[in-house]
Amino acid sequence: MFFVANFEDIKKGKITDVYFVKTMEILKKKGIDKWVKAEFIVKRLPKGIPWAVFTGLEELGNIIEGLNIKVRAMKEGTIIKPYQPVLEIEGMYTEFGILETTILGLICQSSGVATKAARCKKAAGKRGVMSFGARRIHPAIAPMVERSAFIGGCDGVSVVYDAEVLGEEPAGTMPHALILLFGDTVEATKAFDEIIDKKVRRVSLIDTFNDEKIEAVRVAEALKDRLYAIRLDTPSTRRGDFLKIIEEVRWELDLRGFNHVKIFVSGGVDEYKILELNKFVDAYGVGTTITNARVIDFAMDIIEIDGKPVAKRGKMSGSKRVLRCENCFADMIAPLNKEIDLKCDCGGQFKDILIPWYDNGTFLYKNPTPQEMRKYVLEQLEHFEL
Ligand SMILES: [Zn+2]
Repeated sequence: MFFVANFEDIKKGKITDVYFVKTMEILKKKGIDKWVKAEFIVKRLPKGIPWAVFTGLEELGNIIEGLNIKVRAMKEGTIIKPYQPVLEIEGMYTEFGILETTILGLICQSSGVATKAARCKKAAGKRGVMSFGARRIHPAIAPMVERSAFIGGCDGVSVVYDAEVLGEEPAGTMPHALILLFGDTVEATKAFDEIIDKKVRRVSLIDTFNDEKIEAVRVAEALKDRLYAIRLDTPSTRRGDFLKIIEEVRWELDLRGFNHVKIFVSGGVDEYKILELNKFVDAYGVGTTITNARVIDFAMDIIEIDGKPVAKRGKMSGSKRVLRCENCFADMIAPLNKEIDLKCDCGGQFKDILIPWYDNGTFLYKNPTPQEMRKYVLEQLEHFEL
């Protein structure tokens, strides 16, 4: 068996830090319970990252379903900045306090993956970004991780089951294993072309035995118009000036009339590498940097007790609105119960992005599809810089 928790145990609050169990025991014995509001914010994002993509809400919905609480939340896929509450839970403390560890775990990891995917997609622009990193994580959480990668902006995911969960076709080319077993790149590519469904694009991996440009030309001459792309997964020890190698491959293909053959790159790719290689690359396979992305360090803090604002040191108390200008994407945080001017300096209107989501057993809107969430992320990305 795997060392993973099942859904029922998680929902029961068993995946909790022990100090919450002790807290509940003390509160119960002393007969103390209070109406609290708690918010979830990130104070500091990973180094060099100015914004994050908030995800994990749909899974969180399954955990809180049935609880007597009210929740305001940002929509899954919202691009957020530090100090903006992404979630606010209101209810008796003992109703949800035990779930703090679980709630944070659900949103921190997922948002980290979605954020990295969004950064890679932002760097790649119109070029494709595929999630290839499932092999670097525990298979039991691969569907969650690749879902987050997809919502964050990846054009496809490589794991068959994960793609099925998303309602997408899995994305992939051919492994070195195929070429090694055939003993020749062209023979392996021809076999792929012969056996695999015609609907699948022919992408040949050209770095296994010989120089990339020689192999690229060989497979292009063998498959001609049927060859959609070539992929370079060149080991870092052989890369030298990788951009120059790719430029050379492009040159040799074009010179022989294979302008239609696209160039894919994988292996050690992140958003910075993407910016370097964009000139000659049409699509990227991104692995570890997305699937094992640094988490977004959300924390839960109590900000109101029995209707009175209260918070620990270093935290602003009271319930808040998070507002974003529809026009210029400027943000504003304001007290929940104060009248404020919703007109932005740019002439646009501020709109609430932390909105009611769950009210004592009822979800106030239906979960969007992963495709809708991804579209929402991509639309926002146009207004944010890397
Ligand atoms: Zn504005």
